[in-house]
Amino acid sequence: MSILYFDHAATTPVKDEVLQEMLPYFTNNFGNPSSIYSIGRRSKKAVENARTKVAKAIGCQEKEIYFTSCGSESDNLAVKGVAFANKNKGNHIITSKIEHPAILNTCKNLEENGFEVTYLNVDENGFIDLQELKNSIKPETILISIMFANNEIGTIQPIKEISKIAKDSEIIFHTDCVQAVGNVKIDVNEFGIDLLSMSAHKFYGPKGIGALYVRNGIEFTRIQDGGHQEKNKRAGTENVAGIVGLGKAIEIADNNLENYNSKLLKLRNYFIREITSKYDNVKINGDLKQRLPGNINISFPGIDAEELLLKLDNQGICASAGSACSSGSTQPSHVLTAIGLSEEYATGSLRITLGEENTIDDVKFLINCIEKILG
Ligand code: PLP
Repeated sequence: MSILYFDHAATTPVKDEVLQEMLPYFTNNFGNPSSIYSIGRRSKKAVENARTKVAKAIGCQEKEIYFTSCGSESDNLAVKGVAFANKNKGNHIITSKIEHPAILNTCKNLEENGFEVTYLNVDENGFIDLQELKNSIKPETILISIMFANNEIGTIQPIKEISKIAKDSEIIFHTDCVQAVGNVKIDVNEFGIDLLSMSAHKFYGPKGIGALYVRNGIEFTRIQDGGHQEKNKRAGTENVAGIVGLGKAIEIADNNLENYNSKLLKLRNYFIREITSKYDNVKINGDLKQRLPGNINISFPGIDAEELLLKLDNQGICASAGSACSSGSTQPSHVLTAIGLSEEYATGSLRITLGEENTIDDVKFLINCIEKILG
């Protein structure tokens, strides 16, 4: 049985061009970038070359990019790094209720360490309220961290407006772009972003490698002690092959953004049109316009999405549910709860995230399978 993969928000396959570029750094070019002899220098050059590609893709300077091990580490470094470095200025952070656990749990940790965090509400489409954001700002606010695009419902926040509010109050603005990079053209200056997290495995690069952009002049502390790598901000021998893979993957994604988006949009619109014409009680969660092109989050009320997923898996289909079964009871996701979905709609929520390999025939097969299972 062949596999039909519709879970690109979870991870993406590594592109062959990316893998080919990485391979020499596992074999002949295995040198440590900190070593001064030739194979060390070769690795160092490869790391810097990748840094240039990342900087070019998001419109910043090379020296503003720090490589990390993943999106979660980038988020930790951004939020804790800014919080600890700026605690003499204040102890208040603003974020939203629908952030990824990499942000939410980092904030919880900071709350246990003397910081105060405001978690903004979102409306039924997943947007924060800009007025609530303004009202939440206090003299002690040092950081606003709002994700660019949500991993479950795909909603894209009004980032330019948010960054302007932060700038007007001289507050540092971080955005978790783990789902957005590779899907949306992001220029950090155009969007007014001070810190940005990304992760290669979401845009056809390898797992275990991420990056953090930090605007020149923003104070942040290291959270991992050790050697002097990454300008003394992130200790640990660099994952050279991973960094090379991230650089190649972001370069390809950036050159291909328009085609990729229009392909995914066609598939997504086809799916939504067909399914909503067959089932009139389904609900598409998240905003229909300001949305990641490959994201479909759909609730089938009265259906157990986990059960549906298992049946789809029997047909070779990989997708994801908006609720997770833990200790025998199904827990609706914090995102679906925050947008106000009833338990019935939340437990019936299926997340389909489209990607490069998917075709219209794949989507037709998926619809067919759903129809056979649901009747
Ligand atoms: N932030 C968002 C929005 C994500 O979707 C994810 C992963 O799904 C992460 C952070 C964490 O990224 P990583 O898996 O690279 O740690």
